[in-house]
Amino acid sequence: MEAESSTMTEAATPITTAPDFSPMFADLKASFETERTMNLAWRAEQLTALEHMMEECEQEFMDALKSDLGKHHQEAWTTEISFVASDASYSRKRLKRWTKKKRVRTPMLGQPGKSWLQPEPLGVVLIIGAWNYPLQLTLAGLAAAIAAGNCAVVKPSELAPATSDVIAKRVPEYLDGECVKIIEGAVAETTALLELPWDHILYTGGGNVGRIVMAAAAKHLTPVTLELGGKSPCVVMPDADLMTTARRIAWGKFTNAGQTCIAPDYVLVDAETKKKLIPLLQQAVTEMFGENPEESDSFGRIVSDRHFERLAKLIDSGEAAIGGQINADSKYIAPTVLTGVSVDSPVMQDEIFGPILPVLIVDDLEAAIRFIRASDKPLAAYIFTKDANAEARFLRKVSCGNTCVNDTMMFMMVDELPFGGVGPSGMGNYSGEHGFSTFSHMKAVMKRGWWPDVALRYAPFTEGKFKMLRKLR
Ligand code: NAD
Repeated sequence: MEAESSTMTEAATPITTAPDFSPMFADLKASFETERTMNLAWRAEQLTALEHMMEECEQEFMDALKSDLGKHHQEAWTTEISFVASDASYSRKRLKRWTKKKRVRTPMLGQPGKSWLQPEPLGVVLIIGAWNYPLQLTLAGLAAAIAAGNCAVVKPSELAPATSDVIAKRVPEYLDGECVKIIEGAVAETTALLELPWDHILYTGGGNVGRIVMAAAAKHLTPVTLELGGKSPCVVMPDADLMTTARRIAWGKFTNAGQTCIAPDYVLVDAETKKKLIPLLQQAVTEMFGENPEESDSFGRIVSDRHFERLAKLIDSGEAAIGGQINADSKYIAPTVLTGVSVDSPVMQDEIFGPILPVLIVDDLEAAIRFIRASDKPLAAYIFTKDANAEARFLRKVSCGNTCVNDTMMFMMVDELPFGGVGPSGMGNYSGEHGFSTFSHMKAVMKRGWWPDVALRYAPFTEGKFKMLRKLR
């Protein structure tokens, strides 16, 4: 099982003439040199402006997200608009604390002296977003970059063109255009941007492009944060409260029509529990989207024809115990639960990234853990159980970016938890203070007093000095 798909990226966009972004980059470097972004008042002002933008342009963003992904305005608000606004506000309120020097102990041999960590901005950073949460995945990163005092370029995904346009139109109206730029475009633009010597790159998307980003960054030794994907497993134990479990899995899987990097990709459950779980999943789907989800405005659509065709084929990997209907004209794929799925079938090869949920049978927790561990480390992993031992065993054995016990995706609302993958599901993380750290360098500083200037370390070396040094160590 691969963490990302070679079919996930829209490779069809031809590389046309590469624009030259060096003058823009030079301008941003010059802006950074003015030290304006070092100023906490500037950072707070920009974060407030970002909050205002999310509030004042709410309807425009909702319309764009509806057009790109068929997102209901409530979902658009919860997972994107208010998410970015709260993130900006959370960071603004903590700027002083985060930017303070952090004192550390200075050992005896360093006395008289003081030591501390001093956060400093990295410089000019690049943020490349993906299409599935086109606002959140660009502007939450931007909030973190601003909080840390950087200049930034944001490149929204071309696969969510309406949202990309609103970002490109509104951000320059609200934020300092000499320090923050939006570049719209596809492969040609991203390729040209990647040639520049950024001080950091935050990339969100599939692993194949992640490799391209990392290779480009390596030329300049630019550090990268890669927010990638993977097949996030969901284990349901027999002792779980199955109705709540079904509702929470259905919510995690069918939000944004399954086009969520941390959506439960597939379920592992024993045969008896599966029999009880499937009707409850059906009940949850009906409660959320009615008898015919195609008529529900709470259920989204697939982003592009290519992704629609990819997903439509995956339904054949099993029997549709729930859903299975498709409509190419509206890029609709029903909330679908597949049973009788073989581990070799196409749906189990790559991240699904759509509203199709295979339910696979395993004997017990150990079999589920073995199955998960045989594949790449996922971005998220879920377990539903009341058994503390099962929970502990799962947490110990399943390595992944983020975990939720007894729910899916809800860790995203915890400001203090970082968000990011491990191994093929990503490197580095952000969110709240973790985002601030991602876009900061923690400069290590030691300041010495003048007197006494203990001579133990200076030559000529003597046995006496050596003995004393060993004692003081
Ligand atoms: P995408 O097609 O929007 O691509 C992401 C970005 O890469 C875009 O801005 C695009 O312009 C750029 N890009 C595409 N091809 C490129 C190329 N050849 N060279 C340079 N840049 C290029 O998004 P996607 O890749 O389809 O995203 C889906 C994947 O992203 C899934 O695997 C999903 O799990 C993952 N994802 C991860 C997170 C996370 O936070 N970890 C969030 C969302 C999505």
